[in-house]
Amino acid sequence: MEKLTVKTKKRNELIDITKPVKKVIESLGVENGICVLFCPHTTASLTINEAFDPSVMGDIIFSLDKISPDYPEFRHMEGNSDSHVKSSLLGCSLNLIIKDGKIMLGQWQGIFFAEFDGPRTREVFVQVVKA
Ligand code: ZN
Repeated sequence: MEKLTVKTKKRNELIDITKPVKKVIESLGVENGICVLFCPHTTASLTINEAFDPSVMGDIIFSLDKISPDYPEFRHMEGNSDSHVKSSLLGCSLNLIIKDGKIMLGQWQGIFFAEFDGPRTREVFVQVVKA
């Protein structure tokens, strides 16, 4: 298993990790298989979405803030329940198809680390299984 380190700078932030994920797959020399990405954090997530226009990422963060505001009724002592909810909405793992040494993403897609309680130093676990 490989690990990626992601340093986040804002409380809510989506960071494009497509290039570092591609580097890991290339370094392993896997031509065909499956790549599992796993985020071992409770206030962060992984997602795939448009990497071309950065305003899409801003709109996703804006929408998640509307879906999961910081309600005063929350009971979690740490005061970051909105971050936990956002993390569960997007999920903690992704499965990627590797074909001919490349990740099979759509033309506009990128892989994003989603931070909801930053800034922090985070990890992403990468497990590649050869087909
Ligand atoms: Zn918490």
